[in-house]
Formats: sequence, C-alpha cells, structure tokens
Amino acid sequence: MVKIAVIGSCSIDLTVEAGKRPAAGETIIGSRLIVSPGGKGANQAVAAARLGAQVHMIGCVGDDAYGTMIINNLKTNNVDTGYVSVLPGQNSGTAHITLAEGDNSIIVIKGANDLVMPKHIDTAWNVIAAADLVMLQHEIPLPTIDYIIGKCAAAGISVLLNPAPVQPVPSEWLDKVTYVTPNEHEAEALYPGKTSEEILLMQEERFFMTLGKAGVAYAKNGKVHTVPAFVVNAQDTTGAGDTFNSAFAVARCEGRSLDDSIRFANAAAALSVQKLGAQGGMPYLKDVERMLG
Ligand code: ATP
Repeated sequence: MVKIAVIGSCSIDLTVEAGKRPAAGETIIGSRLIVSPGGKGANQAVAAARLGAQVHMIGCVGDDAYGTMIINNLKTNNVDTGYVSVLPGQNSGTAHITLAEGDNSIIVIKGANDLVMPKHIDTAWNVIAAADLVMLQHEIPLPTIDYIIGKCAAAGISVLLNPAPVQPVPSEWLDKVTYVTPNEHEAEALYPGKTSEEILLMQEERFFMTLGKAGVAYAKNGKVHTVPAFVVNAQDTTGAGDTFNSAFAVARCEGRSLDDSIRFANAAAALSVQKLGAQGGMPYLKDVERMLG
C-alpha cells in the first residue's frame, strides 16, 4: 500500500447562500447554510485515502466543535489523525463563504492552521520519514514549510508541493522538491515575467501545470506536452486541484508512468467536478478505474 503524509491545513467551510451580498451596516436573511470540511491539506488527505493510499495527516485544529468535526471526517475517510494536534484555547481554521449574485466572496480565518510549527513536524517525523511521498500546500506558515522541505531533502524523502494559494516562495524550494503542481496563476507567481512554456521547459518532468478543463501541461525532451482533461458536465470545480494532486501522487507512488499518472489524475479530478463540494465529489479508486475503462 502506498504511504502518503499530508502536512497542511484542516478547516471547516461555512457557506452562506443569499439573494444578494449585504451592504456595510445591513442585515439580510440568507437562504441556506452549508457546513463542510475543507482546507487543502485535509482535502488532499481525503482524496488520497479514497484512492487507496495509507494516509497520515499532520496538522493542527482548535479545541472547538469544528476541530472535532474535522478529525471525525478524516477518520471516516480512513485518514490517520494521530498527528493532528488539538491546540487548547485556539479556533480551528474556517473559511466564511458568501455565495450571492452568481459569485462567491471568502474570508479565511487561519486559526490553528497558522500554528503548525517545526515541533509538530519533529513529533510526526517517524510517519513522515516512512512515507513514499510528502504532500505540501501553502496554507500553513511558510517557515514551517521551509523546515519540512529542508528536512525532507536532507533525508531523501520525495515531496510534492502544490503551491496554492499564491504566495511568493524561496526559489530554492523549487529545486529541492520532487514535483510542483501550480495552476497558471501560481506558476506565474513562482517565476514572475516568464511564460508558462518557459517555466515548464526550465522544470522538465517536475512541474505539472493544471489548466482547468484544458487538462495538464508538462515538459519532456525539450517539448511541452498537454494531457487533455476528460470532457464532463462540471457542476462545481472546488477541490478539483486537490483531487488532481492526490491522484497524481498515488499513481506516481504506485509506479505508473508520468503520462499514465496524469491521465489517472485527470480522470479523478473530472469525477470530482461533477458533484458539489470540495470533498463531496472526490472519487474512490473503483470510480476512477471504471472511468479509465
Ligand atoms: P481549485 O483551486 O479549484 O481546486 P486549481 O486551479 O488548482 O483548482 P484546475 O487547473 O482548475 O486546478 O483543475 C485541476 C484539474 O482538474 C485539471 O487539470 C483537470 O484535470 C480537472 N478539471 C478541472 N476543471 C475541469 C472541468 N471543467 N472538466 C474536466 N476536468 C476538470
């Protein structure tokens, strides 16, 4: 069984649907509240576990009701939570989403996600060191990510960095990790002023740029290749990137070729966009195998 350690954020998304956005000082009645587990780290952990990997989540939650919900949801999805620390007196990370007038606006409260520290990495080091791959995103403090990347590089542990959300990061990170999976905006932030093609050619077989319904581009033998996405009727693309990352990670760890791994990940992500919610549409292994035929 493939072993994956995900080090990152665990949150609760609080989505309010309303007919309009309230103006400053205004109170309105909304139509619906949706409470759902999220956070890029937890999303990727759940996606990898559904695809058959043995997954350890490393992160922090608060000692509030949301923290309990986050941990229970991970457990329900067969993710090990032994290294999800419950921080006394802290709030869990939350995303406050208003869905109105055909668009969403979001306020993120980092909460316990902002308190993932090198000591948490050291405590979990036995499972990190035993992993086939470590998955990272940008929703925990950058100094902690720096610590993880340095420690994994020194120990020869493979790392997949999903550089989302956009943040300027030290360029040496990009040389130390095994795979980097930006979307076009994130790639541009990593190498300002360079075109997508220039970036991919600089990072052959290491950078995999997700292009939404256009698929994924990467460079091999001096040329940029695009692996097309599956044509589906998309309902909600939230979490498509998280599903792609985990499916790619699982497939690579299983020894599939780059092209096969991307195809597998495109299939998983295409299944995920057909249902609502970040985790709601994340497929199980049998669903992806059925899609690939
Ligand atoms: P998010 O932040 O919303 O999770 P992202 O910007 O990180 O997304 P995208 O490039 O939008 O990632 O999508 C990731 C992958 O999901 C794509 O490479 C593709 O395989 C799949 N995908 C996304 N949108 C669609 C779609 N409409 N139809 C089919 N596949 C899709």
